[in-house]
Amino acid sequence: MGNTDLDVIPSSPLAVNTDHMCVITLPSLEFHDFDALPVKTTLYNNGRTVTMNGIWSSDKRPSISGSSLIDRYCFSHLHFHWTENNNLGSEHTINGKCHAMEMHLIFFKRSCKTIFEAESQQNGYVTLAYVFNITPNEQHHFGIDCITLNLKKIQAYRKSVEIPAIPLSRLVGNQPGEYFTYLGKAIKLNGDFGISQWIVFTEALDVSSEQLREFRCVTNERGRLIRSNCRAASVAAANHAPYLVPSTRGPDVAAAGHTPYQVPATRDPVGGGTWPEARAAVPFRGSSSSCRFKINKAHVLRREFVKNRITHTRNGAVVTVPAVEPISSSHVIENHEEWMFNKPPWK
Ligand SMILES: [Zn+2]
Repeated sequence: MGNTDLDVIPSSPLAVNTDHMCVITLPSLEFHDFDALPVKTTLYNNGRTVTMNGIWSSDKRPSISGSSLIDRYCFSHLHFHWTENNNLGSEHTINGKCHAMEMHLIFFKRSCKTIFEAESQQNGYVTLAYVFNITPNEQHHFGIDCITLNLKKIQAYRKSVEIPAIPLSRLVGNQPGEYFTYLGKAIKLNGDFGISQWIVFTEALDVSSEQLREFRCVTNERGRLIRSNCRAASVAAANHAPYLVPSTRGPDVAAAGHTPYQVPATRDPVGGGTWPEARAAVPFRGSSSSCRFKINKAHVLRREFVKNRITHTRNGAVVTVPAVEPISSSHVIENHEEWMFNKPPWK
């Protein structure tokens, strides 16, 4: 992989301003089997965060497709980020606001035969990111309770516990809301670069400060409290800012514990019109993963997602950025569970 290819990909997480993003229309992001109950659900303390993994019957494993994804992606695990401060616990900052906590759901490409293969590809992973706000009335998130009520059992490093089975929908609902998406690179524990497609939802979920305190009781390898496990957010260059995808979710399917995100009335979408006009202004070709879109006035580039390539059109001249080649990795991960528990590539 040339350095140039890596250089154009921003580091995750990001500090973003949704008002400055291109608003685009993509095929719907589809959640599959988010309501399915796992056969077994396990919490684990890997010394850096708390992970939750489930085992589903082979035909009911939660997965995602649509949007700009080139394949179906299967659920691997989820984990959390927090700090000691209720106002500084999220990795992504959205419109200047840092949230109380952030949860990452990791999905890997179904067509990859091994985790190693998924890890080595630019588009092998997708991370769904949800931020949380502390509710003014201290109302607990019902799904998060299933986790926090069991955290005392895994306070020590490498402890795991089986918990009552919960479907993903109890945590995040079963349909996506508004999100922004980008390719982000991160340095993995072995020093290699990992690249994930990020889908970050702008609508904050609810958590109580009491629930958040339970996460801060988890200890690391040295037996010390994990006071902070957030990375610093960086700012993407203007011509590599994430794209904003409006919600197509119906009004009656919000997840339990959601606090609807209020879209600012002054938002200036594509074409400067209203939201419906903006969507109409963005031609959308069928149900393939290709999507042609316009940009807002803050940008000078037109881009087109073509599977795993990005094509820039600048003043009529087409410049294609080739797909990033597989990343070399110095270690082979043969067992998914071992990898998930001990070597999460996206901390
Ligand atoms: Zn993470």
